[in-house]
Amino acid sequence: MTATDAPLRQPKIEWQIGRVQAIVAETSRVKSIILWPSRWSGHWPGQHVDIRLTAEDGYQAERSYSIASPPEEQLLTLTVERVEDGEVSPYLLDELRVGDALEFRGPIGRHFIWSQTLGGPICLVAGGTGITPLMAMLRHRNRSHSYIPASLIYSARSLADVVYRDELDTMARGDRNLHLVYALTREHPSDWNGHRGRVNEVLLVENSFTREQNPTFFICGPTGFVESISSMLVKLGFDPLAIRTERFGPIGA
Ligand SMILES: Cc1cc2nc3c(=O)[nH]c(=O)nc-3n(C[C@H](O)[C@H](O)[C@H](O)COP(=O)(O)OP(=O)(O)OC[C@H]3O[C@@H](n4cnc5c(N)ncnc54)[C@H](O)[C@@H]3O)c2cc1C
Repeated sequence: MTATDAPLRQPKIEWQIGRVQAIVAETSRVKSIILWPSRWSGHWPGQHVDIRLTAEDGYQAERSYSIASPPEEQLLTLTVERVEDGEVSPYLLDELRVGDALEFRGPIGRHFIWSQTLGGPICLVAGGTGITPLMAMLRHRNRSHSYIPASLIYSARSLADVVYRDELDTMARGDRNLHLVYALTREHPSDWNGHRGRVNEVLLVENSFTREQNPTFFICGPTGFVESISSMLVKLGFDPLAIRTERFGPIGA
């Protein structure tokens, strides 16, 4: 049974060891870490885990990472972006090797979750690595052959910074109920016909659903991004209770 079959069951969350099965370079600043958990009773798309690193002198650092893999998979995928001068992310990107043991606990989070049993339509809005939990939702939607209407608005610095781009493009090409749009904030190809600059109200209106369709929004990314998109949606008249948010960065980022 996966977690999505039993929404109200919350197993006790204890620290465990995951073995690193693979590490995949996604972009120049982002890698996916594929973990084999020692025990796992399933998760909801949108949930995260906590990672705990322990130094030789006993000093510990903990950080949260969203699960990018769908509940249909046994292995857990975490996708980590380098934060320059960060304590944990440079270790995960530069030092961690296949075969290493990684201490983690999860799944965590009960608000920012979606499964096809909850229905739609859903509008997902990602800023940078905020795509991670939204990717778990899209992978789950795809793996469960759901035709629930979905839209992804993904803001990245450039096309080279779009994480999972090939997979997203392939998913969208084969699925007329999935709408995908990129907003490139810093660099774009000279022949780029897509959106240039930050996500704005026009982009949201044109690529989301109408108020009458009653969409649920899932917004994830740096704090400033999430707050700005949420405010726009409320201003556009969408139900604040249908706007779910997950903030990755420090306040004000
Ligand atoms: C629920 C949840 C899920 C998350 N999921 C992911 C995920 O899937 N992938 C992922 O890469 N990160 C994710 N994060 C962020 C992650 O937990 C860490 O905050 C991030 O990796 C930075 O940790 P660090 O130890 O490298 O940097 P730190 O040592 O914590 O920070 C170093 C400096 O960078 C600043 N900083 C910290 N985080 C960020 C940031 N995100 N952007 C810009 N500046 C920052 C700090 O203020 C500080 O000045 C998630 C956070 C939460 C709360």
